[in-house]
Amino acid sequence: MNAIHYREDDLYIEDLPLSEIAAQFGTPAYIYSEAALTGAFESYRAAFANLDPLLCYAVKANSNLSILRHFARLGCGFDIVSGGELARVLAAGADARKVVFSGVGKSEQEMIEALNADIKCFNVESLNELLKLNTVAGRIGKTAPISLRVNPDVDAQTHPYISTGLKDNKFGIAYDAALDIYQQAKSLPHLHIVGIDCHIGSQLTDAAPLIDALDRLLGLIDQLSSAGIALHHLDIGGGLGIRYRDETLPDLSAFAQALSERLQGRGLQLVMEPGRSLVGNAGILLTRLEYLKLGEHKNFAVVDAAMNDLMRPSLYSAYHGILPVTRREHLATITVDVVGPICESSDFLGKDRQLAIMEGDLLAVMSCGAYGSTMASNYNTRTRAIEVMVSGDQTRVIRSRETLDELLANEKSCLDK
Ligand SMILES: *Cc1c(COP(=O)(O)O)cnc(C)c1O
Repeated sequence: MNAIHYREDDLYIEDLPLSEIAAQFGTPAYIYSEAALTGAFESYRAAFANLDPLLCYAVKANSNLSILRHFARLGCGFDIVSGGELARVLAAGADARKVVFSGVGKSEQEMIEALNADIKCFNVESLNELLKLNTVAGRIGKTAPISLRVNPDVDAQTHPYISTGLKDNKFGIAYDAALDIYQQAKSLPHLHIVGIDCHIGSQLTDAAPLIDALDRLLGLIDQLSSAGIALHHLDIGGGLGIRYRDETLPDLSAFAQALSERLQGRGLQLVMEPGRSLVGNAGILLTRLEYLKLGEHKNFAVVDAAMNDLMRPSLYSAYHGILPVTRREHLATITVDVVGPICESSDFLGKDRQLAIMEGDLLAVMSCGAYGSTMASNYNTRTRAIEVMVSGDQTRVIRSRETLDELLANEKSCLDK
């Protein structure tokens, strides 16, 4: 059964009605299902069982410490993109030997912190980063394990939705330059080559571009091998999509089978960096309808969550399902834009939705587990939402609601200086 489902006319998460959760914790609130987190992780593990990959959860999708700790306890590794995320995974009890560090702009300070933590691998994104890492590692008496993030430049014509795997973006090292940069890496004394990686895009609803990317990397691995450079692991990044609306998604087992065939006999450890697909459908944003504003041409449902809580609709015109927490069969359905209180026309959570609702009702904005709370801001001096984990009929606050005192502290302390 889906973790988030109706029983009669009431929307539940696991064994709890969302109306009870709202009464106890208030709104807006991010609510997660622990069973859904575990379920998503286990379906990866089951589908890829015979490849035994190291799953490095992409922390930026949702970096709540309790969620990180949950994944760490399941045996998961982590893909981090900042020193801040390194601090988070260490605080959550992660095994640093399962941590890979991605990102185009690693600072010296971040390199030092990650070297001192003895992480598994730096996913290096440029020659200059490689040179800096060698210098920094040498200065503190360490050897940096590295992989190059290669841009496989999979065909954009064939795969129009690929966004980060193409030549003209800021991520990764050009395919044609990779061999030469690996050779330079080999000659640098404070680096140790351990792998190769790529990450071609996000919310992929087809595995074909990932398989094309893998084929490109395997071609490069063969060239490296001829040049006397042997790798220990191959990291194919993240990017598998989730169902927000009616997307059809790649079959994990078929994808795993395609990978198995290609990796057989190569002795490479497979690493994957799923983010969205591990957390996206495990969480919702719970919000209350403040005002129904019925107009001649348009109706608005003004709710107490806003673009500062969930930026994806404003930022990418992303679609999130919006469900009433109590279904009202006898109320007329109207077409509304679900909007927040922020002073921006782009402050919407959903457009042209058919809902039978009245003021005071609760709404669940679906599929908010990934890139929801992590992208939240304090715009309009709105405090950040509470986050609650549900397991069965139990609730646990995993981030308390931010207070105005906390929000203003760094400025108040400067007022009379
Ligand atoms: C964001 C990111 C991921 C995770 O992407 P999803 O689409 O959430 O799976 C993995 N690897 C890198 C390098 C990323 O930047």
